[in-house]
Amino acid sequence: MTLLQAMYIPPAVRGFESTAPAGAVFDVAWVGEHVTTIEPCAPGTEAQGLLLPTLVDLHLHLDKTHTVHETGAANGDLFRAIEMIAQHRETWTEADLRRRMERGLQACWRSGVRALRTHLDWMGSERPLSVKVLSDLRTQWRDRLDIQWVSLTALDQFDNTTWARGMALQVKSMGGILGCFIYRNDALKRKLQSVFELATELDLDLDFHVDEGLDVDAQGLRTIAELTLAHGWQGRVVCGHACSLSVQPIEQARDTLGLLAQANITLTALPTTNLYLQGSWSETPVQRGITRLQEARQMGVRTCIASDNVADPFFPYGCYDPLEAWALGVQMAHLAPAQDWLDTVTVAPAQAMKLAWDGRLAPGCPADFVLLSAHDGLQAMTPAGRHRRIHRQGHWL
Ligand SMILES: [Zn+2]
Repeated sequence: MTLLQAMYIPPAVRGFESTAPAGAVFDVAWVGEHVTTIEPCAPGTEAQGLLLPTLVDLHLHLDKTHTVHETGAANGDLFRAIEMIAQHRETWTEADLRRRMERGLQACWRSGVRALRTHLDWMGSERPLSVKVLSDLRTQWRDRLDIQWVSLTALDQFDNTTWARGMALQVKSMGGILGCFIYRNDALKRKLQSVFELATELDLDLDFHVDEGLDVDAQGLRTIAELTLAHGWQGRVVCGHACSLSVQPIEQARDTLGLLAQANITLTALPTTNLYLQGSWSETPVQRGITRLQEARQMGVRTCIASDNVADPFFPYGCYDPLEAWALGVQMAHLAPAQDWLDTVTVAPAQAMKLAWDGRLAPGCPADFVLLSAHDGLQAMTPAGRHRRIHRQGHWL
């Protein structure tokens, strides 16, 4: 038996009942790969660390990563970033993709990530090279990382129904999830309707880039919620970004979020990329670009925070550490107390990815931990507090 003494376990990741006060600490014991007991320590025992389950990153772009030194950075212009990556995509080879994606996976692994979902651009008529490379890497990493992928296409491409069906069939056969990028498109509802028809016909989950901008009139999120309900696709849809929600009147935003809750849609905030791409670049920015996480949670929407782009024209900085994204999200969206939002990078994305373990720590769960130096949520907001040891499959890494 192995034992960790006096661990602070945030209530957001507890899968066990405890009458101990919120700040209580616990002794956690395990045998082999599974937790056996979690027992409260005597009142007043000082915490020796903050214990989390291993992390889950719900939204990445492994095909674009580590390109910024060749593309340059888009300095806040999303559509410029899309052009920059489109040009660079022409140069992608299997070897280059493998090297960059592998570098991303290594970084995830070292951060304490156990599962991740990446979007892969799918623009042309052929299946992109990145899908094959990812599929190889998924096999290679299967004992360490649970990897899911989503096709990322511009919504307008779904107007070409023959092309879209061919693409969706290949996504299905390669074990992917269907996705697209939606922003104030003409005939938005009709085009989204074809996406939902393909998803329901082929039994595919959906993951959208939606309303990634600060225009009040963006209606993608709301339309997706309505179509999810109309097609009975509850629990099968994830929406990332939804920046526009932050500039819409609060009553309207709450109304949309109510629909999301009803449709069991997961909402993913991407603080790093939103802070970089949204808001002014010609003067000091005032708008933050992050979606309404607080209201979403109040309305009962499953909320996640993820890393999104790393070292590409969309976000030239960054790293593959969900806890960095969490800490930025806490500051951008005034999420308090911070520890109550640690489920956004653990339990909530695990549920959205339908992983076998939802990430709640409890007797019987995997002994897969991230042990932080922090003794509480406030310290976890500091770089020193986020120093960590990772326990996976019976070993400290
Ligand atoms: Zn993204």
